[in-house]
Amino acid sequence: MSVRKVQLAFDGVVVAEVPETPLAELPAILKSAGKASLEMAEMSRDQRASILFRASAKFTEQRNELARTITLESGKPIREARAEVDRAAATLFCSGEEAHRLAGEEIPMDASAAGRGRVAQTMRQPLGIIAAITPFNFPLNLAMHKVGPSIAAGNATLLKPASATPLSAMHAASILISCGLPADALQVLIGSGSELGQALVEAPPIRMISFTGSAEIGMGISARAGMKKISLELGNNSAVIVLDDVDLDAAAAACVPGAYSNSGQTCISVQRIYVASGVHAAFTERFVDLTRKLKIAHPLEEDCDVSCLISEQEAIRVQSWIGEAVREGATLLSGGGRNLATLQPTVMAQVPLTSKLHKDEVFGPVVGINAVSNLDEAIALVNDSRFGLQAGVFTYDLRSAWRCARNIKAGGVMINDVSNFRVDQMPYGGTKESGLGKEGPRYAVEQMTELKLVSWRLA
Ligand code: NAP
Repeated sequence: MSVRKVQLAFDGVVVAEVPETPLAELPAILKSAGKASLEMAEMSRDQRASILFRASAKFTEQRNELARTITLESGKPIREARAEVDRAAATLFCSGEEAHRLAGEEIPMDASAAGRGRVAQTMRQPLGIIAAITPFNFPLNLAMHKVGPSIAAGNATLLKPASATPLSAMHAASILISCGLPADALQVLIGSGSELGQALVEAPPIRMISFTGSAEIGMGISARAGMKKISLELGNNSAVIVLDDVDLDAAAAACVPGAYSNSGQTCISVQRIYVASGVHAAFTERFVDLTRKLKIAHPLEEDCDVSCLISEQEAIRVQSWIGEAVREGATLLSGGGRNLATLQPTVMAQVPLTSKLHKDEVFGPVVGINAVSNLDEAIALVNDSRFGLQAGVFTYDLRSAWRCARNIKAGGVMINDVSNFRVDQMPYGGTKESGLGKEGPRYAVEQMTELKLVSWRLA
């Protein structure tokens, strides 16, 4: 059996070795998951909810161990890792509440003459087996955004975490099973996306692929999934607009963590900031000042603000994008330096529209701050993207805020907030190449069930 090394990219230390799931075992895994899906479908809402509530409480009890695992496998600063554990506990709790709420409705059959003498109802039934494929950047909470709703809906789940970060998913599964979930109803499969992930996508008994990751991989999944439901939570090159009527200190103080938490490796990290030209210099000065105060350190250090990216290779890629933007005319205001996998928080100005830093998802600690002459120009620049997940807007003017809410093409617009504001119960998912479908337990449960109609002829 081959073994996968899990390494902390900050210093290359091997933190664990985990056995890979042999591809040859997939047929047996699918068979056991099929059986477990029948067991799940027979469970009452109360039983499913109880498992989720108990697991949520255990996440809180084991907060420190779970957070340490997240940090060691992903390089996420420990304070942010604790916040991720808190969110994952909330995601499971909220999924338990959705298990309670799962219900159909009465259909007004006699609204048609042909339907007279009949009543009908819908019921939401589980799909069967769901494959959940997750990325490295929130290895616990994003897995729970799939596993929690899947359990609430009464499905069995095969969870394939990112190769770099399998440990949080394994720990979470052991907690859920210790809380009463049948062991085969949540199986964590360890292996590469291109082999194991691809095999899951193509396996006929699986009824739904719930994927979070890059747009490139998501599009391939959508092409190969065949007759399965798919949910795609993909990337973004998130933008924030700052107008001239706001408290610039408050806007900068929100944008800096928005850009650099988890070293910018969040699907809604602030990457592009469009600032009204009259306050561009003042905003940029505040932003750069705050950025220079961020502490770069080992991610387990309590006061670490910024640490490594997921790998040195990724840090080299992001640095090359910075160099390319500078050659194309951008100004480097701060940062840009790299030590192994750790890249300094980087601020650029007047990033050209032709550069990757404008067009693509940088997924690293880099922000471009450009001046705009009016709101229409700002909205057009935000929309000048193949992505559309979330955007942020800082203004106190109702009419400007409403224009942004109406006209920005994204799954979510955060008024007086950064693009990466999220609470776990809200509908979350993008438009354009940012994906298909919404997460947030209520919305995921809906996708992870199918609607059955039962019609009763009364005479
Ligand atoms: P990724 O490279 O797309 O990988 C995501 C997952 O897909 C991993 O488990 C990966 O396995 C697997 N995979 C790779 N190739 C596959 C294939 N051919 N078939 C099936 N599965 C395959 O993404 P990542 O680098 O881990 O994460 C970063 C990306 O995720 C960014 O683009 C970010 O914006 C996006 N993201 C989106 C959201 C959202 O909610 N919209 C949230 C977080 C992240 P391996 O690790 O083994 O390659």
